[in-house]
Amino acid sequence: MHYLREQDPEIYEYIVQEEQRQHEKIRLIASENYTSRAVMEATGSALTNKYSEGYPGKRYYEGQQLIDKVEAKAIERAKTLFGAEHANVQPYSGSPANLAVYLAFLKPGDTILGMALPHGGHLTHGAKVSISGKFFHAESYELDRSGILNYDKVREQALACRPKILIAGFSAYPRILDFERFRRIADEAGALLLVDMAHFAGLVAGGVYPSPLPYADVVTTTTHKTLRGPRGAMILCKEQHAAAIDKAVFPGCQGGPHNHTTAGIAVALKEAASPAFKAYAAQVVNNAQALAAALVSRGYNLVTGGTDNHLILVDLNNKGVSGRTAAKALDAAGLVLNCNAVPFDTRKPFDPSGIRLGAAAVTSRGFREAQMEQVGKWIDTVIQHCDDTAVQAKVADEIKELCQDFPAPGLEHLVR
Ligand SMILES: *Cc1c(COP(=O)(O)O)cnc(C)c1O
Repeated sequence: MHYLREQDPEIYEYIVQEEQRQHEKIRLIASENYTSRAVMEATGSALTNKYSEGYPGKRYYEGQQLIDKVEAKAIERAKTLFGAEHANVQPYSGSPANLAVYLAFLKPGDTILGMALPHGGHLTHGAKVSISGKFFHAESYELDRSGILNYDKVREQALACRPKILIAGFSAYPRILDFERFRRIADEAGALLLVDMAHFAGLVAGGVYPSPLPYADVVTTTTHKTLRGPRGAMILCKEQHAAAIDKAVFPGCQGGPHNHTTAGIAVALKEAASPAFKAYAAQVVNNAQALAAALVSRGYNLVTGGTDNHLILVDLNNKGVSGRTAAKALDAAGLVLNCNAVPFDTRKPFDPSGIRLGAAAVTSRGFREAQMEQVGKWIDTVIQHCDDTAVQAKVADEIKELCQDFPAPGLEHLVR
């Protein structure tokens, strides 16, 4: 980055330090990952200079000879990888993708039904503070006391409120969703089924999580979580909804697509179709389960008792420490994660009872079961010493040492 170092030493320095942070800490934020160097090269390319309002073959500006090829390639790869009839790769991120779906099918005030935010749903599934909750009539379903989704209750609610869109998807649910069941509920209630696979798209691509594609009318996903691409999103749908979706993304919600991101998405989709990615996705789940077992064996209370995807939700109530206190102490020790509400949390959202952990990023740098066991041990040590900075510093040093042996994709140059 010698141009950047010359031009803008301040930003250069921040980026260098952030790279160092990503290299020497253990990143357990369930929505984060490390993209490959190839993806970063594509997103850092001259494609950022081009305006391309419209779609391949139907643009408003000239000079699209190569941009059209890039976007068509991304679309083709997305359709092949996920078995989709239609793909739109232009949404700027997951939230605008969901907004475009609402614009395509809803009028203001129409009813949507999604998982409640404090139970693992996403802001864009109808939370009060979100445009999805302000412009539409949002109803939400909750989990059982055990933390498991109760489909009979979802059905009852859907039949009572008759949503135009039923949403299946989550940011903090450690289990598999039954898409066939959701499909049946949507049909009975006369709703469209939207599956938001933002978190688990990479697991679907790798064949270790059921695909919602056969069941959903529309599927949205981010590209930067388990799918390991650049920040962005895609909408996959049946051919019958293709025109409505495309119109809702552009000109409905957005202007020109971010072509550099589209190129990065195309690269990530190629990577995700490889045998190596299949192995990666399987290892993500194995690693999450190994970490879950390490925590359970140390007396931690996991929501639903474990995980069958990439994420874990820990209820810290029996450990006498709040989610935020634990998350801060863990960060100081080199274990980066976020505090999170647990179902039926009695604490405030800003300082909830739980922490959320994910295995996607550490698996990208090569962690396996043995390292996950060690991570579980470190987490326990730090949580037992939340106000002991000496213990945190010691763990941080041990973690730096371990990270030397597991260079993250794109950050290999930081190994001493
Ligand atoms: C992360 C996420 C999104 C939003 O993605 P952004 O890119 O942050 O806008 C949408 N839905 C779900 C379920 C998510 O987990």
